[in-house]
Amino acid sequence: MSIWVLRGLRDGVVTTRWPARPDPYAEAWRGPARPLEQAGRHIDLTRLCPTGAITVTDGTVRVDQGRCILCGRCVAERPGVFTWSEGATGPAALTREQLIIPELPETDAAVAAARARLAERTRALRRSVHVRHVDAGSDGSEEWEIQALLGPVYDLHRLGVFITASPRHADVLLVTGAGTRGMSGPLRTTYDGMPDPKVVIAVGTDAVSGGLLAGSEATTSGVTATVPVDIFVAGSPPSPFGILNALLIAVGYLVPDGKRPR
Ligand code: SF4
Repeated sequence: MSIWVLRGLRDGVVTTRWPARPDPYAEAWRGPARPLEQAGRHIDLTRLCPTGAITVTDGTVRVDQGRCILCGRCVAERPGVFTWSEGATGPAALTREQLIIPELPETDAAVAAARARLAERTRALRRSVHVRHVDAGSDGSEEWEIQALLGPVYDLHRLGVFITASPRHADVLLVTGAGTRGMSGPLRTTYDGMPDPKVVIAVGTDAVSGGLLAGSEATTSGVTATVPVDIFVAGSPPSPFGILNALLIAVGYLVPDGKRPR
């Protein structure tokens, strides 16, 4: 008997049942930093962050999780003010502003409008869905997590989601990377080549905001300058569960604010 058969018998079924059932690994995943509920004086907190994710307005400390690269500096230096988000599926948002914690007052109305726009398109994508991935200047970390989705643990195909090489066959565009200027043309061409309705997911802090490369001449500080993004997934990189969560939101299998297995 081959070693692979023996290994299979030993390990049993490794495929996650998420989202039909909770998965402890998804719950234990460490997400971007977030401020603790607190009051008091906050002296020079903004200097802690290399990407400018931290702001302090009228005594309220906010973290823009779309800019957080999870360097850990704020949590290490000010543990009474910052901590980590818990759970792999938290930082997926329908608007860029939704990634700012605590929420800005105007976020609710913008999210409601974005949800309505997305629902209109996802109604047509409920069965087999094909995904085109474009690397627009990634460091490769998001690609590892996307690759993991195709393995036996996550088994993307069990949910009727498939990766395709052709934009003509794609319903969902998965974009990684900080949005290098050299990739702007190919990215836009891919988007234009996809049939309607289509959904765009920005995967990872780099794609959302440019990350450490935000403001660089070499990038457009994220991919929103090139394609209209429907779902933003923060994280550096986000976990496979986080990407899966966004894909399932894109196809209407899950709703953004709660789990709703079809
Ligand atoms: S973990 Fe690093 S990147 Fe994230 S908010 Fe804190 S200092 Fe900024």
